[in-house]
This record gives sequence, structure tokens and C-alpha cells, in this order.
Amino acid sequence: MSVTAIVGAQWGDEGKGRVVDYLAQKAEVVIRFQGGDNAGHTVINDKGKFALHIIPSGIFNSETICIVGAGTVVNFDTMETELKSIAQAGVDGKNLFIDRRAHLILPFHCLLDGAEEASKKSGWAVGTTKRGVGPCYSDKAARVGIRASDILDTDRLRTRLEMMLPQKNRQLSYYGLPEVDIDELMEHIAKWREKFGNQIIDTMPIVKKAVIEKKEVLLEGQLGIMRDLDWGIYPYTTSSNPTAGGACSGAGLSPRHIDEIIGVVKAYSTSVGGGPFPTELFDADGEKLRAVGGEFGATTGRPRRCGWFDAVAASFSCWVNGFTSIAVTKLDVLDTFETIKICTGYMIDGVLVTDLPDTAGQEKAEPVYEEVEGWMCSTTEARTWEDLPAKAQSFVNRIAELTGAPMKFISVGPERDQIIIL
Ligand code: GDP
Repeated sequence: MSVTAIVGAQWGDEGKGRVVDYLAQKAEVVIRFQGGDNAGHTVINDKGKFALHIIPSGIFNSETICIVGAGTVVNFDTMETELKSIAQAGVDGKNLFIDRRAHLILPFHCLLDGAEEASKKSGWAVGTTKRGVGPCYSDKAARVGIRASDILDTDRLRTRLEMMLPQKNRQLSYYGLPEVDIDELMEHIAKWREKFGNQIIDTMPIVKKAVIEKKEVLLEGQLGIMRDLDWGIYPYTTSSNPTAGGACSGAGLSPRHIDEIIGVVKAYSTSVGGGPFPTELFDADGEKLRAVGGEFGATTGRPRRCGWFDAVAASFSCWVNGFTSIAVTKLDVLDTFETIKICTGYMIDGVLVTDLPDTAGQEKAEPVYEEVEGWMCSTTEARTWEDLPAKAQSFVNRIAELTGAPMKFISVGPERDQIIIL
């Protein structure tokens, strides 16, 4: 194994951070390939408990090179805050690099994010975290964005801002927001240059060398496929591609170079933000999943919507991503459920559907469930397959079968050692 992509198989918050943290103990390079600081990975290890938003989860291994890749959007203010929080635990950021091609989230992107979200009609809010990610990617696609390398050249930066800001200021004043003063913004960015200038590099040669030398390289996804810009529940999506395909373009390598694609699959479903979520529970089971699973956002603290495992979404995810294996997380959260449901299909307009439809189809979907008996005992001490109760074994086997990929990891608690490796 040399290059492994770790991607979210559901709506995000599957527990990718802990899987990356585990694998990063042996990794040479860890690359965050898309997204910004709009989602959090929670990592618990011997150094403490951390909520990482933009820094790759490999940062805890001092030997690992951590790359914030070309496909990401970076807010250097929040990156600095995050670096300070891990520095308190003795973790330094000396091996953290930002690709020259990554785009920068500027302060007005965050303002526009909030204003654009507030202008949506009722029921159409995406549920963004107002971190400026969507507006920054919009500018990237419109080819007016500011790349990390632009801040290393003040003349270039000023010229790019002079072209960009008149239009941005019109947008800001439309929403009644303060316009941007170019000199103030240049000053703000000068502090970023001072702090991060040496870490803005062309990361491609590092990645290329590591791949050619067959070093361990991890590609770390953020969010999950159901929030993918193309294949997710558009328009309730993020503005990038958190799939294995997105990993190639965001990190700068070919699909031919990826040896393993691990889909991280939570043993039930959660979603934060708007859009259809067919297995959502509004009853005591939903409340219990939220309470026992601690399903509150790492970035916002928002309660997550909770529901049963959705195999329609998981097998779609397996197809689009091409999982070579899956990591089933949070199995322990189901330890006290007498009955557990698995969604195996949707009824849409009286027809049974097993291929995931687009957003409009999902909005009409009624989940079809099969029920399995719960194991009603703690799995948190299990460290081998044999330690799991037979009913838990058959539940995870069923998840793997319906998803369409073999299991590689099962996690039974948030601690680094609460994991079964198969
Ligand atoms: P990510 O964005 O995919 O990394 O996921 P999050 O960090 O948002 O959510 C995962 C949460 O579940 C974190 O608080 C983890 O500490 C926790 N977690 C991860 N794996 C397990 C597990 O197997 N059992 C339990 N109980 N919690 C877990």
C-alpha cells in the first residue's frame, strides 16, 4: 500500500479524522485535498482531544509532512488559531505546507456567505457554516480568486485585488455590508505573508517523489459524498468534490496512483444542514442516536440530524468512489438499541428504488427498512473481530454487503485504540 484516499461515504462527520489519525502514525505525507475550515475532524489521541478544521489530521505525527492541497480554500486567520490550539499540546506546525495553488478565503467571503444564505427563500438554506467557503470557490470558478502564491508577490496581489474588488464591493453594498478598502486588506494579508509565507510552496514535487518512492501517502477528505458539488444533494452541497476523484485533482496525482480507497461509514446516518435526508428520525430513537453518539457539530456545535443506516446512499457512494474497503465507525453507539434498522431501498411514487436518485427524487423518498436485533451489550472493549457479539458481527457484515466493499476497520469508541483491524 502506498497511496490511500480516505473519504466520507455519507453526509460527513463519519469519523474520518480518527481513521486518518490512526493511519497517519505511519504516513510520510498527509494531504487535505478539498474544502476549507467549514467542517471539523475530531481527533482524540495521546496528546489530547482536538477539533481540526483545515489542518490535516497527520499533524500529530512530527515526522509526517502535512499538505493543504491545491483543491482547498484556506483562511489563514483560522489556520493560525488552529495552530495555536495544537501548540498548547506541544504539537508544532513546522511540517505544514500550503500549496501555491490553493485559494484564499478573504474576510469579505465570510460576510457574503452569511448574506447569501440569509437571502434564500424559506426551506432553501444550505446550512453553510458561514466560513466563506462557497463564495471563495465561486471566485475560483469565475477566475477572479486569489491564490496562496499571489500573496508572495505584492504587485501581483494588488493588481488581482484591483480587478476583483469593484465587483465584490457592489455585491457587499447590495447586501448592506461594508465595502472593502484595498489598503486595509493588503495590510491584513501582509500579516499572513509574514506568518505563512515560507510554508506556501509548490507541493507537487513532494507528492510526486513520495508516490514514486512508494512512501505512505494519505489523501484526507472532508465532508462526505452526499455533500459533493456534482453527486450530492445539490444545492445543499459544499462547493467542491470530497470524493476519490476529487482527491486526484485536489492533491495533484492520477487515479492510477491511488492504491486504496477507504470509505468511512458510520453505523447509522447523520447530516448537518439542509436538504433531503430520507432516513431522518424525529422520534426517541433519533434523540437517542444524537445523545449517545454526541452528534453535535465540531465546528458549530449544531445538533446533527440523525437516522438509521442508509444502504442506498452507501452503495451509491461505493460505486462513485470505488471503495477498496470500508471503515465502519461508531458501532458502540448502537450498543443499547433493542432493534436496529437498515434502509435497503426507497419507495418513490409507489416504485421501489435502490439506485440513489437525485435531490428531487430523494425529497420524495420513503425509506424501506429491514430490522435486525440489537446485541444489547457493550462493544467498547472489543479489539478483535471475535470480541464482537455475534449480532454485532452480522450487523456490520450486512452493512459491508449492502455497501459493496470489504471491512477493514471497525471503531467502537473515540479513543485511538478503540478500533478493530481486520
Ligand atoms: P469527521 O469529520 O468525519 O472526522 O467526523 P467528526 O469528527 O465530525 O465526528 C466524529 C465524532 O465521533 C468525533 O467526535 C469522534 O471523536 C467520534 N468518534 C469517532 N469514532 C467513534 C467511535 O467509534 N465511537 C464513538 N462513540 N465516537 C467516535
